[in-house]
Amino acid sequence: MAPIAITPPVEGTETLSHLTEQGIAHAVQKSAPSQLKSASMTDNITSTPPSEPQSKVEPAIEATIAELDASKIQCTYTTAPRTVPEVGSAEMASQKVCSDHMIQAQWNSEQGWAAPTLQPYGPISLAPTASCLHYATECFEGMKLYRGYDGKLRLFRPNLNCNRMLMSTNRIALPAFPPKELLKLIVKLCATDGAKWLPKDRPGQFLYIRPTMIASDPALGVERPKEAMLFVILCCFAPMGNMNGGIKLLASQDDMCRAWPGGFGYAKVGANYGPSLVAQGEARKQGYHQILWLFGEDCTITEAGASNFFVVWRTKEGKLQLVTADLNEKIVLDGVTRRSILELARAKLTSTHGDLEAVEIVERKFNIFEIVEAAKEGRLVEAFAAGTAWFVAPISQIHFRGSDIEVPMVKGEIGAYAEVFRGWLQGIMWGSDGMESHEWGHVVDEA
Ligand SMILES: *Cc1c(COP(=O)(O)O)cnc(C)c1O
Repeated sequence: MAPIAITPPVEGTETLSHLTEQGIAHAVQKSAPSQLKSASMTDNITSTPPSEPQSKVEPAIEATIAELDASKIQCTYTTAPRTVPEVGSAEMASQKVCSDHMIQAQWNSEQGWAAPTLQPYGPISLAPTASCLHYATECFEGMKLYRGYDGKLRLFRPNLNCNRMLMSTNRIALPAFPPKELLKLIVKLCATDGAKWLPKDRPGQFLYIRPTMIASDPALGVERPKEAMLFVILCCFAPMGNMNGGIKLLASQDDMCRAWPGGFGYAKVGANYGPSLVAQGEARKQGYHQILWLFGEDCTITEAGASNFFVVWRTKEGKLQLVTADLNEKIVLDGVTRRSILELARAKLTSTHGDLEAVEIVERKFNIFEIVEAAKEGRLVEAFAAGTAWFVAPISQIHFRGSDIEVPMVKGEIGAYAEVFRGWLQGIMWGSDGMESHEWGHVVDEA
């Protein structure tokens, strides 16, 4: 497949994506110019600690602070191998079982990053005063390691997750690092545990990858952390829920929102998720799968749970559109799946594709009343949620202020556009359907 053009960023606005090198540089530069050199522009230049006031960066300090360096990794292999759960077992789906090893790296503001380690998976030790336990100085990523139908292990656009992780750490005063070094550490862990945990004779399986950073300062002061820990674990996960039949969404109530302008909804920080669980629990109790998060008096649509929301509708003028929320107000997470769907749509669906009518691709602020109206007038074509965890999940129903919006699924269990996006992405992730060497599939060479 030909390389795909990325939506051009609009200069001088907030529409620069957090996931691109450029966007990351922009985000970091705004709050901590001293981190820019090491984090985004070049490799192997040490950075000043993020706690340095940005107005007076002293070059002398730069040389003494160690950068995160994957080549320094120290490996200790397990002597107590763990058991891989049976495919389809409750244990597999419990999200409690991790692989044999984990990556860890410690940072402090005086020395910078210590040599990272690959070590047996196990508990970590923290002081009860640790910053992350009190002030939510925690952020994470969610990725998957796929065992392909061609026998290869692959990551999907992992550089975007590493860039986003840097953007998230930057938002909550955790230390910067070169995203490429994080990627090397993730690859090392995947290469070490991939063969056993994703056996070659089980293509179509995956492990969930959770890179995490926490502030570990043993001090209760409400201030920028001086110590931090990075870790990466591989966790078993329920098989890709194909969610056929569609998921049902409960629109959030007027008294609660997930994110707001000036907040941190655009960052994958733990502080976004804990407070959403009351609403999510209520949705589950009422038979819905996820909350559709609305914002403001006009009920702007933001996201569905921890997935981005897409709708296909026909405008009153008869134009077919694929619509998702824009990123301008920073109340929506810049999902890798979202970005990939938009790029695929721009590359392949702006003219007729097989049976599929061309769509206009629209990123803009839109609200639930537009969906209510489209449904009423028979213009609603389909809707789906997109993210790493739930992949591309068709939506069958949205409950809003006492009424149900029924969302069509022309293929019976899924809409035609959700189906085609899912197929393209699966081909890239699992190396099938002629997508074995797509540039978005990052092959992991096994140990
Ligand atoms: C992780 C996440 C997504 C999906 O992002 P992907 O990179 O596609 O996995 C969407 N919304 C929220 C709030 C998320 O946390």
